[in-house]
Amino acid sequence: MVAAISSARLGAEVVIIEHMDRVGKKILSTGNGKCNYTNRRQGLRCYRGENPAFVLPVFRQFGFEETLAFFRKLGIVPKERDGYFYPASGQASSVLDVLRMELLRLGIQIRTDCFVTSVHKTKSGFTVKTSQGTFTADKCIFACGGRAFPRSGSDGSAYPHIEKLGHTFIDIVPALVQMKAKQSFFKSIAGIRSDILIQLYIDKTFVSEDRGEVQLTKDGISGIPAFQVSRYASAALKKGKHVQAVLDFVPYFSPEELMQELTERFLEGNQKTAEEALIGFFPKKLIPLFLKENKIPLKETAKRISADQIKSFAGYLKHVVIDLTDTGGFEKAQVTAGGVNTAEINPKTLESRLVSGLYFAGEVIDIDGMCGGYNLQWAWSSGYVAGMHAAE
Ligand SMILES: Cc1cc2nc3c(=O)[nH]c(=O)nc-3n(C[C@H](O)[C@H](O)[C@H](O)COP(=O)(O)OP(=O)(O)OC[C@H]3O[C@@H](n4cnc5c(N)ncnc54)[C@H](O)[C@@H]3O)c2cc1C
Repeated sequence: MVAAISSARLGAEVVIIEHMDRVGKKILSTGNGKCNYTNRRQGLRCYRGENPAFVLPVFRQFGFEETLAFFRKLGIVPKERDGYFYPASGQASSVLDVLRMELLRLGIQIRTDCFVTSVHKTKSGFTVKTSQGTFTADKCIFACGGRAFPRSGSDGSAYPHIEKLGHTFIDIVPALVQMKAKQSFFKSIAGIRSDILIQLYIDKTFVSEDRGEVQLTKDGISGIPAFQVSRYASAALKKGKHVQAVLDFVPYFSPEELMQELTERFLEGNQKTAEEALIGFFPKKLIPLFLKENKIPLKETAKRISADQIKSFAGYLKHVVIDLTDTGGFEKAQVTAGGVNTAEINPKTLESRLVSGLYFAGEVIDIDGMCGGYNLQWAWSSGYVAGMHAAE
């Protein structure tokens, strides 16, 4: 939609071919229905792919400020919460509505329920055969998303057309997604949300970390910190590597502070049992698990627990190792990591280096963002830049 708008504003005649019954469906699900459409904190570390620096020439032409101005002009009043931007209406539907109104104002043709059967490069441009007839055009932009959340329309069905035009893909994997763990204890702690630091290791090498509210599910970990490290886990699992996460259940205490807290709780716990002594420190469901894993009987009198046991218990709480075996898959993922190889795309124009007149925008390219408005920012920016150059 943004690519269509930027092209049409420069005078191009544009047709959007969409196989769903309406355009922009995914936007409605973003940000829990509130649409986190960008983020004030920008930087290379927010974008991932084989070559994250690919985003720089794009953002130089249409970045965070241009995005705010673009949507402001379309009617979106920005509401900022700790750097995260949402429409003041609090409704993702507003973002889709203003885009659709602009498409209408510019006279852009929208063909919904339209299925592409082939895309051919001709001498003068492109021929696109669809369930609604054949379209010819000077330029063609693929803005077909990835494979995440396929019920919104992005199901990878356009990938074969891109491959037939000669392009290659960096392996695609689900990202910003929950992860499954081997340990069976998750069943007993499902539903807990806790401030946890997750450190991800691939073949025993540290790769990435994130801290915040982690959701413990019946088979693993979810929530923003799990999402943030998931793309690395996902890619490594696909390659058959050994993926582990180390969970620090007390990231807000140093090891010394934790020792002091536990010592006070256990030794000055009067007649409390080990289980009772931990109430108020951890969610109730976690306490039996922690004690069991450390072979401390739940009913043990707290003050009988030895200094050595406390030391090893403290070490455990800051270093719970789990084996990650799978992710929630594309059905549950918010984004696709991998995509059209950026080496085959000119980063200044987003035109294919292999086929003149062919452009790419958004998640279909091998760029994925962190959780926090970065994936939409990439979609808007790359869309605007591809549309602008396609209209030249
Ligand atoms: C639940 C959820 C929440 C999210 N929340 C946020 C958030 O708050 N902030 C953020 O920045 N990002 C968020 N994201 C990610 C963000 O929505 C995507 O990265 C972004 O929408 C990608 O834009 P795109 O235009 O590249 O692809 P898409 O939005 O996926 O659009 C691709 C379009 O192409 C159509 N299409 C695909 N194949 C074909 C075909 N063969 N023929 C015709 N049409 C086709 C699809 O139907 C779709 O309409 C979220 C994602 C999900 C799933």
